[in-house]
Parts: sequence; C-alpha cells; structure tokens
Amino acid sequence: MGAQQVAERFTELYGTRPEGVWAAPGRVNLIGEHTDYNDGFVMPFALPHQAVAAVSRRDDGILRLHSADIEGGVAELRLDALAPQSDPNWTAYPAGVAWALREAGHQVTGADVHLSSTVPTGAGLSSSAALEVVIALALNDLYELGLRRWKLARLCQRAENVYVGAPTGIMDQTASSCCEQGHALFLDTRDLSQQQIPFDLAAEGLRLLVVDTQVKHAHSGGEYGKRRAGCEKGAALLGVDALRDIPYAELDAALALLGDEEEIVRLVRHVVSEDHRVERVVGLLSSGETRAIGPVLTEGHTSLRDDFRISCPELDLVVDTALSAGALGARMTGGGFGGSAIVLAESTDVETLTKATEEAFAAAGFTTPRIFEAVPSRGAHRVI
Ligand code: ADP
Ligand code: MG
Repeated sequence: MGAQQVAERFTELYGTRPEGVWAAPGRVNLIGEHTDYNDGFVMPFALPHQAVAAVSRRDDGILRLHSADIEGGVAELRLDALAPQSDPNWTAYPAGVAWALREAGHQVTGADVHLSSTVPTGAGLSSSAALEVVIALALNDLYELGLRRWKLARLCQRAENVYVGAPTGIMDQTASSCCEQGHALFLDTRDLSQQQIPFDLAAEGLRLLVVDTQVKHAHSGGEYGKRRAGCEKGAALLGVDALRDIPYAELDAALALLGDEEEIVRLVRHVVSEDHRVERVVGLLSSGETRAIGPVLTEGHTSLRDDFRISCPELDLVVDTALSAGALGARMTGGGFGGSAIVLAESTDVETLTKATEEAFAAAGFTTPRIFEAVPSRGAHRVI
C-alpha cells in the first residue's frame, strides 16, 4: 500500500490527518547466519518490501494502534500501564518500542498509528523488525529525540527481546534501520560498526531471488534457544567471551580442544567458518568479483544443513534445484526450519530457475513457493 493511501486510511480512522508517514523495510541476510548472538559478522540488505506507518502525537498517555493487515479495530493502550510480556498480540511490537523509548528516559506521551506492510510475516524476512523500526523512527522524528539509527535499532531489539519476549540478535533491526539502496550492510555485531558494501547486481547482469517456502516448522523457537545455549557453552569451554573470538586460522586447534563434545564441535565449526565466509564475501564484493560469492553462499548452506542442522527438506530442495539448474550459489537465509532461501543467478537464467523450483516443489508435494527478486533497497525513512 502506498504512503498516500496509508495517510488517507489514518484520516478515516482517527478523523485528522497524520503528522507524517514513515517506511521501514524487511531484509534478507546475504551471509552470516546465527553469528549475531556470537558477537560475529552479518551482511543483510534491505528489501523493497516495507512497513508504512502514518503517525501523529498525543499528549494524554494513550497509544492507539491499527494495522490494515490484521482483522480487528483500533487497539487502545495506556503507556503507563505497558508491561513486558503481557500482550500476546501484534500490538506488542509497536507498544514495545514506545515502552523501550520511555524506559530509556525519552519523553513520549502518546501516538495514533495506522500501518500497512508488504513484508511477508513469518517468512524469515523480518516483518517484525520492519514494524518496530517504522514506529521507532516516527516517534524519534515527531518527539525530536535525536537518536541515531544504530541506537534506534538497539531500542527496537530491546522491545522485541524484553517486551515481546522473543530472543533475537541485533541484525534485523539494524538492517531495517541502517541499510542503503544498492548496498549490503557489513555489520560487526560486537561493536555495531558498519560498512556499506556496494551490491548492485542488476548492473552486472545478476539477480538474487528469494524463495519463500511458506513453511514454518513448529519446533523453531526451542531449537533456536538450544543452538544459542550450545554456542555459549562452546565459548565457555574455549575460554572466550564469544565464538567471534576464535580466529578462523585457529579453528582446527579449537575443535581439537573440544574433544568428544560432538554437538558443540559442530556449532563452533559453523559459527567460526561463517564469520570467515562473511569476510570472504566482503573481500570479493569489494574487488568486484561478484560472481565468485556464489560458491561461498552455497558453502554457508552446507554448514547450516550439516553442522548447525537448522535446514529442512523444503530449503534443501530450493538449494539443490537451483544449483542443478545453473545458479551461481544458493543458501537458506534467516533462522531456519522453514522461511526463505536465496539464489544468486545470471539474469538470463531466472526464468529457468523459477520454473525448475516450482516443478520440483510440485513433484515433492510441497506448497508452491513464493519467488521474487530481491533488489537491495533503502533503509527506514520518512515518506511524507
Ligand atoms: P518475521 O519477523 O520473520 O516476519 P516474526 O514472528 O518475528 O516473523 O514476526 C511476525 C509478527 O510480527 C506477526 O505475527 C505480527 O504479530 C507482527 N507483524 C508483522 N507485520 C505486521 C503487520 N503488517 N501488521 C500487524 N502485525 C504485524
Ligand atoms: Mg522477526
């Protein structure tokens, strides 16, 4: 939905024009999976899909929320009654942002919000971060809080971790908040230092496809927690603050130290080699060798499938089919156990790849996947 339509719907709902309209995108992660809670490297870029919110201030401590994408009327919440993990509904995301801002001492006295989003939910494309960041940016502008982009991302992460109660790293919110058009964001999740890496695929005759398998396997929440705990145990056994502190050159020695801790060995091998893959991709893109990142992406998938064990038959089928149909590289992206995969391909191969993937899914009896092109787009911004 366009910004103008969102503004008009706001006026219908609340009887006044909104003070402004903001947008914040979903993201895909090019490489660097399950590294963000290990203080490591990630490399997301923003999608053209975004959450758009029309927002006005209020001075009576009331937050009114409405989403065009959810059945139901306007939710009305009192800011001074907001309490972490008390709201099982979608409203917890925007309310959590207002809560996190107020908790950090910022003067936010209420808001009317109407929003609409084109980011598919639960597809590993971070519709939740888009929703948080669009609200954070709107409140930051309207209340003139002067918070920098990385700081807004931190507050949104806090909203999701503490208020909603979902354990996530810092990548999603930073991507939505800080990405730039035509670039991927090389982010060090330890100190939040960032580098915008030019990533203009179309100029090189390349495309990046997102294949949303539309599956979400039920055990994903608990498995995320187990991987996270396993990584922390690995770091403790190796005597480092986080797995990020194991240099790639010392990986074999570290694995030897872990001895017969099979499970931990596999987790450590993934995280340390994945950080190294991010650095390799940064190096290749910086020297203009875009096609050469394909095999690095595929290596990442193998590591997630065999060592980290968070793939699923649908994601493996996307990768296997794409590679046999001529893709340069492919991998699952996001948390795992469903969601989306990405495929790097020559522009001229897109039609063949799309058809091959749809046919393979039909033959396997899987739900038809949603396939679209991911063009590196701009991060959060004010529209009106
Ligand atoms: P992901 O971030 O991978 O899409 P999450 O489970 O983290 O998946 O977040 C999805 C949740 O975010 C939805 O269940 C809903 O509560 C909220 N959400 C996302 N988009 C919207 C929207 N347009 N309107 C209302 N709530 C939304
Ligand atoms: Mg999410």
